[in-house]
Amino acid sequence: MLARSLYNEDHQLFRESVKKMYDKELVPFVEQWETEGLVSREFWRACGDNGMLLPDIPEQYGGMGLDFKFNAIILEETALAGTTGPAFGVHNDIVAHYIHNYGSEKVKHEWLPKMATGEAIGAICMSEPSTGSDLKEVRTKATPVDGGFILNGSKTFITNGINADVAVIAARVGDDSGAKSISLFVTGCDVDGFTKGRKLDKVGNRSSDTAELFFEDMFVPTENMLGKQGEGFIYMMQELPQERLSIAISCQAAAQHAYDIAVDYVKERRAFGKAVFDFQNTKFVLANLKAQLQVGWAHLDACIEALVEKKLSTNEAAAAKLWHSELRCKVVDDCLQMFGGYGYIEEYEIARLWRDARVMRIYGGTSEIMKDLISRSI
Ligand SMILES: Cc1cc2nc3c(=O)[nH]c(=O)nc-3n(C[C@H](O)[C@H](O)[C@H](O)COP(=O)(O)OP(=O)(O)OC[C@H]3O[C@@H](n4cnc5c(N)ncnc54)[C@H](O)[C@@H]3O)c2cc1C
Repeated sequence: MLARSLYNEDHQLFRESVKKMYDKELVPFVEQWETEGLVSREFWRACGDNGMLLPDIPEQYGGMGLDFKFNAIILEETALAGTTGPAFGVHNDIVAHYIHNYGSEKVKHEWLPKMATGEAIGAICMSEPSTGSDLKEVRTKATPVDGGFILNGSKTFITNGINADVAVIAARVGDDSGAKSISLFVTGCDVDGFTKGRKLDKVGNRSSDTAELFFEDMFVPTENMLGKQGEGFIYMMQELPQERLSIAISCQAAAQHAYDIAVDYVKERRAFGKAVFDFQNTKFVLANLKAQLQVGWAHLDACIEALVEKKLSTNEAAAAKLWHSELRCKVVDDCLQMFGGYGYIEEYEIARLWRDARVMRIYGGTSEIMKDLISRSI
């Protein structure tokens, strides 16, 4: 990889502390979380204790008042440690930002400090059984009543759905169809009318809990509406570039990790009297992946810098999400091939990395939707 100029000495020190913490608190537990289908709450607490939650949220709300590059380091190191289970992207980069950017002071003080310690875990609830890509078709209904709204509806595929303590929910106020009647609400997950459904049984990324959620006559006070009524869709479009870049960061680092373990493997494994690495095909496949990873890191760094400077456009973020998620799938597949039969056996990490990769082309907006967004800028 080319030397990265994105990060300064403070960032590097932070990276070292994250790595050290992961050696103790993450790496030994990955397999357990995979089996349980859930990252432990103790881990979230430990992340809070180590200053890894809400790095770029101002200190007055419990965050650290740093820049997004610290968030990026957490995402990179998590994937480089061999998992994308802990959903930092959702908690740090999405939910905290909706609350911070659009929440009332009361809501910010109620939830952000708890999210910063790991006492409260966040979920973002947009997708529904009948709509995912087309978010303006959200059917969850928010009916105005004295002092607030009554929510009825359901969500599905919600990351952190089982662990969540606080949720940001997209719902429709009034009977009008389309984007202009969508508003966003924040609520605790222990209120009357909020039910967590089953934990979904996924192909990969199993240590990240994904669930259905149901709202039945659930009261949400007026001050828990984020921003203005009817502007929820605009806020979602404003926040999606950061969500998509978070996914791109995880993908690039996960691809790098798969490449690294494949290099180690082929240098050890022998066939026809020599190391698998010594076949010209192996070297060429690895050389090709190495070149793509090098280009990928340079592109990613430019995108992170642009986001920090608030210059990353919707279509540029979509291109990053598209390209890095496709790269990850290509790299893990080529790497699995180099493991031969062992690559298909669960005991080998590459098998899990291969399963984990697939969803990256689906969530946060599918590859097709990313292409649609990019094409609108042409
Ligand atoms: C593990 C996991 C975690 C998730 N986490 C969350 C979460 O935390 N919060 C949340 O709100 N959602 C979450 N999602 C939902 C995810 O964002 C959606 O699944 C995704 O946006 C696609 O929506 P859909 O599943 O309804 O597919 P659909 O919208 O039904 O799409 C089906 C197919 O049609 C294609 N398609 C749709 N529209 C177009 C078009 N205009 N042009 C071309 N092709 C099109 C799609 O690309 C796809 O291939 C998660 C999903 C998964 C699997």
